[in-house]
Amino acid sequence: MRDTLVLNASFEPLSTVTLNRAVVLVLQDKAVVEKSHPGLRMRAAAVDLPVPMVIRLSRYVRVPFRRQAPWSRRGVLVRDQHRCAYCGKRATTVDHVVPRSRGGADSWLNTVASCAEDNHRKADRTPEKAGMPLLFQPFVPTPADAMLLSLRGAEWDALPDWLAEAAA
Ligand SMILES: [Zn+2]
Repeated sequence: MRDTLVLNASFEPLSTVTLNRAVVLVLQDKAVVEKSHPGLRMRAAAVDLPVPMVIRLSRYVRVPFRRQAPWSRRGVLVRDQHRCAYCGKRATTVDHVVPRSRGGADSWLNTVASCAEDNHRKADRTPEKAGMPLLFQPFVPTPADAMLLSLRGAEWDALPDWLAEAAA
């Protein structure tokens, strides 16, 4: 199944998301179905929906798409939703997967959110050497990630900090 196109409230195309994400946005009243696959419906539990090809956000979201978000510590915490990459608990620090002393860079792919204890325990070692496997892989946030993060939670209009910085 193809991804679903997401339009801003202004009908401007923003991004694509997986069908699963699209359905969640519709069920949360954050988006409406603009166009659906003819004759196809999804049925699960109490849900009976047309399979969306295009959805449109219920409210306008300002997302600066043409800029790639610069790396920042706060951005890494937002990207990882303040979840420690080693234990899953609340993270307040940023860990370099390959330590800086071993040439690891300040980059999206080399940094993860970490709780202070795990950051201290891992110290100047790689995850392999420390015996601390990553629960998830770091990634460079895309416009779709930025949009989904901006739609998450109660503060609809709040952009992730790393995007606000990119827009400035
Ligand atoms: Zn931890």
